[in-house]
Amino acid sequence: MVGLFRRDVTVAVLASGSGGNCTYVGDGSAGVLVDCGISTRRIQERMEALGLKDAPIDGVLITHEHSDHVGSARVLYKRLLKDRGVKVPFYMTRGTLEGTSERSRPEGVEILTAGEPFRIRHMQINPFSVPHDVLDPVAYRVEVGGIAAAVVTDLGRPTKLVAKHMQDLDVLVLEYNHDLQQLMDGPYPWHLKQRIKGNHGHLSNRQANQLLRDSIGDKLQHLVLAHLSEHNNTPEKALRACHHALDYLKVDHVAVQAAPPCGPAAPISLVAHHW
Ligand SMILES: [Zn+2]
Ligand SMILES: [Zn+2]
Repeated sequence: MVGLFRRDVTVAVLASGSGGNCTYVGDGSAGVLVDCGISTRRIQERMEALGLKDAPIDGVLITHEHSDHVGSARVLYKRLLKDRGVKVPFYMTRGTLEGTSERSRPEGVEILTAGEPFRIRHMQINPFSVPHDVLDPVAYRVEVGGIAAAVVTDLGRPTKLVAKHMQDLDVLVLEYNHDLQQLMDGPYPWHLKQRIKGNHGHLSNRQANQLLRDSIGDKLQHLVLAHLSEHNNTPEKALRACHHALDYLKVDHVAVQAAPPCGPAAPISLVAHHW
């Protein structure tokens, strides 16, 4: 007999921004972290605060070698081994492994290839390339229990490939890094402004909206504006820009929140259906 049972899928942005990034996705029987750019203690504290203390971590998906994404990988590997007695694999591209400093490099690395989906238990993981100023960066789409979520941050411009992987999502964590005017008027030195707004830097509010326009579907329930710059954006500006795009697209079924710089954002819980 085929039975239907409920299981909640949780997507929790534990931290977001240049101070560190970490997102949990899981359904109670399997789970992953996307990035670990905050301290291990902070990851544990924030998971505990959300009732995720014993939530399964079957893998850690690293997007790229900047320390706000991979900083605590080495310590986290050891901590998970000590606390849970499990050698949790850290997934990353070969380029990311090569670019990661000795200090942050974890044991137990599994090399992945952008564009080649793989499974961690019953979770489907799809890494795809993004334009960013590192060796071989990826973003991730994670599917579990019929729910599709994607974490798409640290990219300099919208691309067709990225928009393709953002189709038919239930949950989207999308970079709204800067307001272009605020960046250009702000205190950063010229070369840094050029880097951030360049093709391999970070998404402006406007560029994020463009990706949204090219990908948004009826299924999308939750949108988290992420990796907001503390100096070059405000949550209000990012939200205003995003709502402007949603109004234009006549989309009113999506719950939107801005992850505060350094997070955490309010956790998202969805009902998954397993047949
Ligand atoms: Zn970053
Ligand atoms: Zn980065």
